[in-house]
Amino acid sequence: TEKIDEMIERMQNDYIKFVRLQFVDIHGVPKSIALPSKPEEMESLFYDGLLFDGSSIEGFADISSSDLLLKPDINTYSPLSWRPEESATCRFICDICTSDGDPYPGDPRSLLKNALDDLAKKGYTYNIGPEPEFYILDEDNLGYPIPSDNASNFDVDPADKGVDFRRELSLNLEELNFKIEANHHEVGPGQNEISFKFDDALITADAVITYKQAIKAIVNNIAEFNNQKYSVTFMPKPFNGVEGSGMHCHQSLFKNGKNVFADPDAEYGLSDIGLYFIGGLLKHAFPLTAITNPTVNSYKRLVPGYEAPVHISYGLKNRSALIRVPAAFGESTRIEYRSPDPTCNPYLAFTAMLAAGMDGIKNKIEPGEPVNYNLFELSEEELESNGINPLPASLWEAYHSLENSELLMNALGPQIGNKFLDAKYAEWDDYRVQVFNYEQRKYLDI
Ligand code: GLN
Ligand code: MG
Ligand code: MG
Ligand code: MG
Repeated sequence: TEKIDEMIERMQNDYIKFVRLQFVDIHGVPKSIALPSKPEEMESLFYDGLLFDGSSIEGFADISSSDLLLKPDINTYSPLSWRPEESATCRFICDICTSDGDPYPGDPRSLLKNALDDLAKKGYTYNIGPEPEFYILDEDNLGYPIPSDNASNFDVDPADKGVDFRRELSLNLEELNFKIEANHHEVGPGQNEISFKFDDALITADAVITYKQAIKAIVNNIAEFNNQKYSVTFMPKPFNGVEGSGMHCHQSLFKNGKNVFADPDAEYGLSDIGLYFIGGLLKHAFPLTAITNPTVNSYKRLVPGYEAPVHISYGLKNRSALIRVPAAFGESTRIEYRSPDPTCNPYLAFTAMLAAGMDGIKNKIEPGEPVNYNLFELSEEELESNGINPLPASLWEAYHSLENSELLMNALGPQIGNKFLDAKYAEWDDYRVQVFNYEQRKYLDI
């Protein structure tokens, strides 16, 4: 109660007039219900939650049992810096319960929370530092999206038209409690990255949702104010022939406040636990890709010639590999899983990566030798003879493999697992019947 009283007082001090109760659907798309913030009603909101209709949320209940309960997580309080200062809005990220108050098995956030609770019973915490990339778009004369500039990696102004945006975004994200690390222009024209400090996987998953939402909203606000057409996309491959946008995930396990991936005496500074975690990720990488790269478009990023992975392998400092072991030692020891893209549902992706890595630890799965050559320079045959296999080439391959992965289907649980597969089947069926401009150009004259 003390915590709740403090919260209510804090909201009054921040002049909060609206409370957004936020959650995500099965795809990680944020949803929210806004309430007028009346101090006398907040207490029961925090205790009892708010009933809502879950039937039209993707991956949630059927209309026959559609009443669900939103329970605000008081630790996620955040005034929304991009909303008006007067009559301010705050948001809480919520856990979803059944109308009886039990955890709802379709809630992606509860899934990750449970996985982390189980992990805590073994004494571990799971840290993730994500690097979501995005494009700032402009419009051409016909209203088609084009990159906002022609700059490339680490370019500076005036070629880099993202500087002022990243400045505004960075300041706003700090107000939203992000520990911003660095921002820079990425390789692609109009492509940007603002990285933030690693944290516990649940906090990071919440942060990824907030990050995407805030960045889109803030850029839209600036553009609207200046009568410009700028907008943001997290689409994995918005244009053919230029870099895609990834969301590399740096990860490590801690026990008693110590990084258990670190072993100063070991080769590469990486402990056996760290190596086994890599082994597990590599073993399950193929089906895992359905969750870390969940859209049709995701697979247009995972092609040779860019800094995105195409093959299941790990390397040191090697940016063509799926897993990179950065040259960071001691408490900073970590591995970087490079396939995920910003369209993944971070709650599902982190749960699934953790399950894969922990399977590696449990079964002492050796990852073999790291690869130190550019994988894009070898033929498929050469790679195969080195025991290196490709990642799925399409969403179709990926979800069919997920369907057969006992480990990952267990990690998702029956409700989320099956609803996720249903959604991917439908997404693929929708895609496969389309006829694209490219096909017309190529085949009309045949
Ligand atoms: N854009 C690249 C990707 O798709 C990553 C580039 C980088 O951060 N080195 O993963
Ligand atoms: Mg980066
Ligand atoms: Mg990057
Ligand atoms: Mg990276």
